[in-house]
Amino acid sequence: MNVRSQVSMVFHLDKCIGCHTCSLACKNLWTDRPGTEYMWWNNVETKPGTGYPTLYEDQEQYHGGWVVEDGKLRLKLGSRPTELVNISFNPRLPTLDDYYEPWTYHYKELIEAGPGDDQPVAKPISMITGEEMEIEAGPNWDDDLSGSPIYAENDPNLRKVMNEEERRQFFELQQLVYFYLPRICNHCLNPSCVAACPSGAIYKRGEDGIVLVSQEKCQGWRMCVSGCPYKKVYFNWNTGKAEKCILCYPRLETGQAPACMHSCVGKIRYLGVLLYDADRIEETASKPDAELVDAQREIILDPFDPKIIRKALADGVDQKVVDAAQRSPVYKYVKAWRLALPLHPEWRTLPMLFYVPPLLPVTATLTAQGRHELDPNFFSSLESARMPVRYMASLFTAGDERMVITVYKKLLAGRIFKRAQTVGDIPMERASQALEEAQLTEREVEEIYHLTALAAFEEMFVIPPMLREVAIQMGVDPHEFQEERGAGFVQLPARGL
Ligand code: SF4
Ligand code: SF4
Repeated sequence: MNVRSQVSMVFHLDKCIGCHTCSLACKNLWTDRPGTEYMWWNNVETKPGTGYPTLYEDQEQYHGGWVVEDGKLRLKLGSRPTELVNISFNPRLPTLDDYYEPWTYHYKELIEAGPGDDQPVAKPISMITGEEMEIEAGPNWDDDLSGSPIYAENDPNLRKVMNEEERRQFFELQQLVYFYLPRICNHCLNPSCVAACPSGAIYKRGEDGIVLVSQEKCQGWRMCVSGCPYKKVYFNWNTGKAEKCILCYPRLETGQAPACMHSCVGKIRYLGVLLYDADRIEETASKPDAELVDAQREIILDPFDPKIIRKALADGVDQKVVDAAQRSPVYKYVKAWRLALPLHPEWRTLPMLFYVPPLLPVTATLTAQGRHELDPNFFSSLESARMPVRYMASLFTAGDERMVITVYKKLLAGRIFKRAQTVGDIPMERASQALEEAQLTEREVEEIYHLTALAAFEEMFVIPPMLREVAIQMGVDPHEFQEERGAGFVQLPARGL
């Protein structure tokens, strides 16, 4: 066993309101430079939908992630010799059209327009060519299904789980149902972007698992863009180098939450530390599809187990990291309560961001059909929900519907219990029965309710002191140092990007 730590995030999807504040906070901070105009390190997609870049989930087209062949894990992109053949022509890259052509407007024409008979307009101009352009696509073109059924109908997950007739019925306008999926780099345990890079420019930081691109080493081959199935590495056309989400490490090192989390309106994001066994990464990523989620949960270690603590300390993990792992909201959602699931585990990168799947689009449509949540057959009717469980399973469990239903049972049992307790229109015996069916205790429900609905920011954002260089130089604890400075800006030695 080799114990390491990873900073990790949970997104509670029922709380996301699709406001895109997170995307804009990230854009203003990191990708407001020449060459990055089309990049959204954080983006929020409407699901069902084709995403950004469009159809990134179609690995038959993009060949991202890993596959198991003859019991061995290999990049879907091909072997190293194949990669070298393709080094100057990489056919698996998204084009600018797959992202979108970024634009701005001739604002001056609007602001400085003289008096006249016509309403002045600001014409769109391309941020690539500087020419006037017709806008035909954007990074979030199918937002709120505004482009449906033309766009969302092509969602690769829907195509996988529904036939043509089912998809046609799904897109009857009066019955539309959707939810939001915020996405950043997953800072994977088995990152295919790192494995695909011929220059060794992408690396995973030892102390916290953040995946970064060395701008000195990057040669601009873009194999990382192809290798990442989530398409979360981007090519800067101005510098000729790859760039990606850095999980706001300069903010983390000064005790501040990543910009996307700090600005999140719905308070859907939780950040914390997980301890994991680095010796079991390959074995875990090689499991059959049906075992992947459980195997990934297994590789995450119990930070309360004295044996794990001793081994972690022996492996160089700081006591403060162990303390933070014990208070980690991510550990609770992922491992203790088993409510949060990885996105597309079948791509085998072992993504370290997790999602509590949304209950609302499933139950709302069932209750509209007259099926009450308290109906004993409620869960057996999930298949007739407008948002079928098999769609969620295609996103979060490599197709295992039972695992999604288990999560839904827990979420629903919690809701029934709190309603019985606070509104009183459900008998407490029925609520207790729901808890028993979901294998939850009253204490667990109260804890889940607290972290989901009431928690203070300090409970949602739990990271150990990370400003090691400054702490060592100053001879003080980083948190005390930050308090002395009033959480102001601290100049850090240049690292990573
Ligand atoms: S999600 Fe991030 S860490 Fe994972 S493969 Fe893609 S770029 Fe690499
Ligand atoms: S800021 Fe939060 S609530 Fe708004 S879209 Fe982003 S993740 Fe969702």
